[in-house]
Amino acid sequence: MYANSSKSYAAAQRRIERRKSEDDAPRLANEVPSLRSARILVIEQVPTGSTRHVKHVVVARAPALFVIPCGDPTCQEGGHDITHALMSAFRRRQTQADGEDGCGGMSGTAQCGRSIRWELTAEYAELPPR
Ligand SMILES: [Zn+2]
Repeated sequence: MYANSSKSYAAAQRRIERRKSEDDAPRLANEVPSLRSARILVIEQVPTGSTRHVKHVVVARAPALFVIPCGDPTCQEGGHDITHALMSAFRRRQTQADGEDGCGGMSGTAQCGRSIRWELTAEYAELPPR
């Protein structure tokens, strides 16, 4: 698969960069000290229906960065950055939140048509009495 090698090299580079940005991101536990647990159900619409998977957030060491990769292996530069939506839900101590996100990547020469729906379930510590 020589034709593919530069492409997979680029993909590996992107994975390294993503890894780096996760390491640089602020820690979730610092950003939202009252957060105890979080679980994100990701439902991705695919041509044959939908797939779903659950992302368990390890609050103690998770970065405050939530990027769901695009499920289409041919998609370039795609993915779903739902950091902003999740962080605002955490800051408002929402135990449930959901949303949708379309992929902004390219599949070949066409725009990637994938989209996801996410559902957040979170638990928080009691606030100290005032
Ligand atoms: Zn995509």
